Amino acid sequence: MERKRVLITGAAGFLGSHLCDRFIKEGFHVIGMDNLITGDLKNIEHLFSLEQFEFYHHDVSKFIHVSGKLDYILHFASPASPIDYLKIPIQTLKVGSLGTHNCLGLAKAKGARILVASTSEVYGDPLVHPQTEEYWGNVNPVGPRGVYDEAKRFQEAITMAYHTFHNVETRIVRIFNTYGPRMRLNDGRALPAFIGQALRGEDLTVFGDGSQTRSFCYVDDLVEGIYRLLMSDYVRPVNVGNPSEITLKEFAEEVLKLTGSTVKIAYKPLPVDDPKQRQPDITKAKEILGWEPKVSRADGLRITYEYFKSLPKEELVKQPK
Ligand code: NAD
Repeated sequence: MERKRVLITGAAGFLGSHLCDRFIKEGFHVIGMDNLITGDLKNIEHLFSLEQFEFYHHDVSKFIHVSGKLDYILHFASPASPIDYLKIPIQTLKVGSLGTHNCLGLAKAKGARILVASTSEVYGDPLVHPQTEEYWGNVNPVGPRGVYDEAKRFQEAITMAYHTFHNVETRIVRIFNTYGPRMRLNDGRALPAFIGQALRGEDLTVFGDGSQTRSFCYVDDLVEGIYRLLMSDYVRPVNVGNPSEITLKEFAEEVLKLTGSTVKIAYKPLPVDDPKQRQPDITKAKEILGWEPKVSRADGLRITYEYFKSLPKEELVKQPK
């Protein structure tokens, strides 16, 4: 039987590479696309020898050409951590807008179903807690994070418009903080930052008083939720994340316990527009997809710590791209 063909943009990134693995495992022909602006070919090099995998080094903000049929598109290309999108704000806006437009055009031309990676950042610094999909958000369009948040809000709007006006089969996943192997140690996010600092014997930096909360989802759980959403017939946005909420101070303490490190917690001023709390309401994902996270934070953290520990020493001190 002919394999189904899926295009995954952002394939060399953290989430994109895990999605490539999952779709290969499900028997798909996977076409990975990435311009490597924040990603790394190391994340997918184990796939290069496979006949059912091909890779295009391409910027999706420019016109996309893929020959042959396409059944599915997963649009995951975008800088995702604040350290990245603050450094490359225009590329971030372009990939969320022009890149999404190109992917939707390709989906329309090929008759493919497309799923776009949105984010909990569309809720901004939320005034409603936990966040349901019906909440419209509290975003500062001209604040430093606006380049990412508004690109993703535009992405959702144009995706719905292609569904409504061109009958393209679309899916929108609102991803909450996700962690796991292949995250970059220096991407500025709390979890790799804490583990990196513990491994280097430095104090763990907590911004503000550490009372702000986050909810961390292990990558395998996220991938399962995305797979189910793609295969469902639900077109409105769906939150996928882990509702188990923790303060950053408690989280830093968990990392210290796990790593057995004797360093301390150092407090620094809170960055501008840093969300104070974040927790997904996953009622919809439970009802529509029969999905909920399965991996506990203790297990997920242990696997991720083992991954970071196994990296070559120079990775520990590497500066962001
Ligand atoms: P990542 O930086 O590891 O991966 C993004 C990938 O996209 C990289 O490989 C990068 O090189 C590629 N890319 C960026 N711009 C591109 C362009 N113009 N053309 C081609 N490739 C391009 O980030 P990630 O954590 O894997 O995030 C993937 C997606 O998931 C992003 O869209 C992000 O907004 C979304 N997301 C992630 C999280 C999370 O917790 N990781 C949360 C919410 C949403």
